[in-house]
Amino acid sequence: PAAPYAPAVVVGSGYGSAVAALRLGQAGVRTVVLEMGRLWDTPGPDGKVFPSTSAPDQRSMWFRHRTEAPLAQFLWLDVVNRDISPYPGVLDRVNHGGMSVYVGRGVGGGSLVNGGMAPTPRRSYFAEVFPGVDAGEMYGTYFPRARAMLGVNDIDPAWFESTEWYRFARISRKHAQNTGLKTTFVPNVYDFAYMKREAAGTATRSALAGEVIYGNNHGKKSVDKTYLAAALGTGNVTIETMQRVVAVRQDPAGGYVLTVHTSDVTGRVTQVRELGCKQLFLGAGSLGTTEILLRARETGALPALSEKVGLGWGPNGNVMTARANHLWDTVGCNQATMPALGIDDWDNAANPVFAEIAPLPMGIEHWISMYLAITRNPERGRFVYDAATDSARLDWTRDQNAPAVAAARNLFDRINRRNVTIYRYDLFGDNKAFADDFTYHPLGGCVLGEATDAYGRVKGYQGLYVLDGSLVPGSLGVNPFVTITALAERNMERILAQP
Ligand code: FAD
Repeated sequence: PAAPYAPAVVVGSGYGSAVAALRLGQAGVRTVVLEMGRLWDTPGPDGKVFPSTSAPDQRSMWFRHRTEAPLAQFLWLDVVNRDISPYPGVLDRVNHGGMSVYVGRGVGGGSLVNGGMAPTPRRSYFAEVFPGVDAGEMYGTYFPRARAMLGVNDIDPAWFESTEWYRFARISRKHAQNTGLKTTFVPNVYDFAYMKREAAGTATRSALAGEVIYGNNHGKKSVDKTYLAAALGTGNVTIETMQRVVAVRQDPAGGYVLTVHTSDVTGRVTQVRELGCKQLFLGAGSLGTTEILLRARETGALPALSEKVGLGWGPNGNVMTARANHLWDTVGCNQATMPALGIDDWDNAANPVFAEIAPLPMGIEHWISMYLAITRNPERGRFVYDAATDSARLDWTRDQNAPAVAAARNLFDRINRRNVTIYRYDLFGDNKAFADDFTYHPLGGCVLGEATDAYGRVKGYQGLYVLDGSLVPGSLGVNPFVTITALAERNMERILAQP
């Protein structure tokens, strides 16, 4: 018998997928969204949907016995992580030897766990990264469309200057300015008006209660609340959870047949089924989408896929670092979890860095200034199909991050020298001042114009599309989700007009 059938299937439910689902639904196309994580809408025993960061439980991480937070230590003690029981929690850390990649799991993908920072890249750098994309159209139409739909908003500068919750950012700004560096406000999808009410004590605290990487119970406009809610509102879209797409093949009668594993909360596969579709939209993220296509090519299921599938991966030059401040430069016990300011030295041709001034909310004064630096690392990794485990392995060695560390060190050495401060060596393990072994910004694997045409239509096949971070060739210069969303808007408009 023929497999059950949907006109369109969308794999994953992060940014790219959410745009696809909405625009398909609006076009009247019956669409099924398959997401391997759960729907985050039901309160646990504590009455909250997401666990607190200070006492994480099974909801925090994807099938782990112990949490693996990015900051593993404090004063060299492993005080941050906790034993938990395996469960389809919201944050995953996918370990690939030289590089660990943090991703969100659940309806909303990375939007559930990220810091909400919503910058638009420098136009000149965007044009360099995407020479085949009309930048005029992007900056005139698709970036504004994406920002409006995502609910991007700006912090009230007067409130920023006065609130204790951003003292940490003002201290980092002072040290940057002392060094002659420029800082800039960064828009966010966390509702800053809500945050003000949190500070005033008239709204339940979320960003002001340490919530971020294990989900925000309030305030944040993740895509389940924006694009996906609108998609469901069209009446043409359904979302199925705990559904992992493991294989794709062509249907001799046209379209594609997916193999889908349904799991329960223990991780046991309870059903293996097939689902047919005419059009297939991949939005499983850089790791997920690339693995699906690489597996299909290497197992012979979709042999005509481009040799470029699996190439062009980069961590957006991510490096985390921290400085120890003087006793008089207190950063405050109270810190909002949503970053609002960045050090913008991207125009420094010799050493471009955009560094988000990151909070470290611990409820105590710790005199630490934290940063997530985005650098221009020219190194690229690639995914290799491993038949033994039927998975895609990321080929990326630790020394490939050396250019990113050097760029970050160049900037923060200057800041330290000018302010007579030093690095913290106790936060990232191995006595190192720079965390060079993980990324929040996996980009590439199915690069636009390489593995796909100029609009995300996969080369070699009809009705097969890529819409997520795997289209971006490894570097963007800023946090990526606004760009991923805007590109998906652009590509969906074209795909719906010219499938
Ligand atoms: P994702 O959002 O990763 O969505 C992919 C979805 O597909 C996931 O839900 C996943 O579970 C699902 N999936 C994967 N494989 C399968 C499969 N085989 N079958 C079914 N479903 C599957 N970016 C910013 O711009 N600003 C920030 O402040 C920021 N902070 C971040 C903080 C953290 C802790 C992290 C982890 C990321 C952060 N990012 C930030 C990055 C941002 O979240 C990602 O760039 C973005 O989510 C990528 O979008 P995407 O559409 O490519 O895929």
